Amino acid sequence: MSPTIAHALAWAKSILASAGSDSPSTDARLLLAHVLGKDQTYLYTWADKILSDRTYVDFQHLVNARQQGEPVAYLLGYRDFWTLRLAVNPSTLIPRPETELLVEHALGRLSEDASSLCDLGTGTGAVALALASERPDISVTGVDKVAGAVQLARQNAIVNQLINVQFLQSDWFGALGNSQFNLIVSNPPYVEEGSPYLEEGDVRFEPRSALISGKDGLEDIRHIIGAAIPYLQAKGWLLLEHGYQQGKAIRGLFAHYGYTAVETVQDYAGLDRVTMGQRNTCE
Ligand code: GLN
Repeated sequence: MSPTIAHALAWAKSILASAGSDSPSTDARLLLAHVLGKDQTYLYTWADKILSDRTYVDFQHLVNARQQGEPVAYLLGYRDFWTLRLAVNPSTLIPRPETELLVEHALGRLSEDASSLCDLGTGTGAVALALASERPDISVTGVDKVAGAVQLARQNAIVNQLINVQFLQSDWFGALGNSQFNLIVSNPPYVEEGSPYLEEGDVRFEPRSALISGKDGLEDIRHIIGAAIPYLQAKGWLLLEHGYQQGKAIRGLFAHYGYTAVETVQDYAGLDRVTMGQRNTCE
C-alpha cells in the first residue's frame, strides 16, 4: 500500500540526504507538492493522508531523478524568482535567489523618469521580467545569444502578463544597434574554466555557456564593462553580478573605463556579489 504524505516525505528526505542534496527536506516537499498539484501547506495539513498509488509512483520517479542529481527546477519545470514563477529548461541557468540582489539595486538606481533598461544574457528572463514587473512605465529589453533562452524568456513574459518587455537574440550588444539605455544589468557567466565548482551539485546540469568565462572568469565582464559605454545614456548605470572573489578586480575595470560612483554590494551571505558604476558624463 502507498504511504501517507508524512511517510513519503520522510522516505524521500532520507534518500536525498544520503545522495548528498544540501536541501533534502525542501526538495522532497517541492516534488511531492508538485505531483499532488497542491501547494506546500497542503502537505502539513494533510500529513496523514494516504497517497494514491499513481501519485506515489510519480513521486518515486521524481525522487529517483533527483537522487541522480537532476536539479529540482528542471524536474518541476519552473523556479520562483522575485514575485514571478518562471519556466526553466536546460538551455538556461536556473535563477538563483542571490540574483534578487541585482534586481533590488537596479531598482534603486532607476530614477523616476528613467525610460529604458537592458538585461544582457537574460536566460529565463528572470532579471528583465522582475524589473519589468516593478516598473511598468519602463521599456525593458532582454538579450541572449542562445535561441532557446530567448524563446523561454518570451514565454515567461507572456505567462506573467508583462507587456513592457521585449527579448532579442543577441551576442551581448551585437543586435542592439544604436539604442541607449538608462541602465544596463547583467548576470553574465563568471566562473573560471576548470573550476572544481562545476563538478558539484546542480551546476553539472546547467549550460556551460551560462557559467564559464575564460581562465579567470572575467572574460565576459571585461568585455561588457568596456563595450557598454556607448549603449548607456549620460549618467546611465551598469550593474553586474559576479563571483565573491571578483569585486576588487571588477571595481578596477570600472575605474579603468572611466565609470564613476563605483561600488560593490554584498549578498545575504555577506559576500561581494554585485558591482555597479555610472557612465561619466564628461567624456
Ligand atoms: N552564481 C552562479 C552559481 O552559483 C554563477 C552563475 C554565473 O556564472 N552567472 O553557479
